[in-house]
Amino acid sequence: MVQSSVVTRSLFRPALAKMNAYTPGEQPRDGELVKLNTNENPFSPPPAVVEAICAAASGPLNRYPSPTAEPFRVAAAEVLGLPGPEWILAGNGSDEILTMLVRGFVGEGQSLRLPDPSYILYRTLADIQGAVWEQVAFNADWSLPPAFSSPAESLRLALLPNPNSPSGTVIAADEVAKMAESLTCPLVVDEAYVDFAEQHCLDLVRQNERVLVTRTLSKSYALAGLRFGYLVAQPQVIAELAKIKDSYNCDAIATAAATAAIRSGEWLAETRETLLATRQRMFDRLVGLGFDVTPSQANFLWCRHPDGSHQSMYEYCKANGYLIRYMNYPGHGDGLRISVGTDREVDGCLDLLEYWLTSR
Ligand SMILES: *Cc1c(COP(=O)(O)O)cnc(C)c1O
Repeated sequence: MVQSSVVTRSLFRPALAKMNAYTPGEQPRDGELVKLNTNENPFSPPPAVVEAICAAASGPLNRYPSPTAEPFRVAAAEVLGLPGPEWILAGNGSDEILTMLVRGFVGEGQSLRLPDPSYILYRTLADIQGAVWEQVAFNADWSLPPAFSSPAESLRLALLPNPNSPSGTVIAADEVAKMAESLTCPLVVDEAYVDFAEQHCLDLVRQNERVLVTRTLSKSYALAGLRFGYLVAQPQVIAELAKIKDSYNCDAIATAAATAAIRSGEWLAETRETLLATRQRMFDRLVGLGFDVTPSQANFLWCRHPDGSHQSMYEYCKANGYLIRYMNYPGHGDGLRISVGTDREVDGCLDLLEYWLTSR
């Protein structure tokens, strides 16, 4: 990427000049690497989605789409058992929803809170606002200390990925409910990986208007390339946030696809079962290789080897066609996050790690 110059930077708001850009996981385009680095679904999306996209493509693309992605909201409310579409806000990926939330709640100089290690995009969103981010370290067992839910004057928003990344661990819903009670600001429960978990926090939304649940079709519905996510919150919260959104933030094709996806419950159940079985095999094999693997409720595993050479393992895998994620968190240490791919992809990657560990 082109480097910005000091002169150019001075043209922008000071908050931007001070910040670094968010760096997404590597997205190689040559198709030669097996991607186990950004928690995408290895399977094709539900066939009904592809049909809906084709139908929408021959629809009236000269006309603006529904400004609120209404067909999706109606379908999602039904599928999720919510009182109505007014409980849902649709977005161009859940990243856009997160952007709206931070813009809506956190002003310049105010603060947002996130656990550490977790999704670092939250920090970038705070930086863009000229806001302050405050990290609360997870305990060694991936529970959170009371500091995460203690109220503070300038604190405007707390964000909790649940399941968390990179750990894949979950904070129990009753615990999340207590956190939300204790905090005076809204609590965003980022459920990007919830379809791989054993619980969710949707019920809390009805009980507390400060609980905001975000979801995405990118991971469990195999639609990362499409860009569609949504927020579940009480109607008065949705109405206020809708003021911030772009007039037509979800296009006609994405809306048609997302509507078909959310109705593909059977496909989701089957895909989930397949991926969870692979996750279990992957877990067992990593443990067999001496890794310390965190039990996961997501479609990836966080693992660390007593050998400590995580970066070399990552590089060795990459050189041999497998992309996994090497993460290094100051104060927490480093490790590998490996997405659950197909059985074949996972075996290929584990064969490499095994070879690397046994051939030295
Ligand atoms: C992948 C991910 C998202 C982003 O989802 P998109 O809908 O693709 O923008 C949000 N939160 C977490 C924790 C994620 O891992």
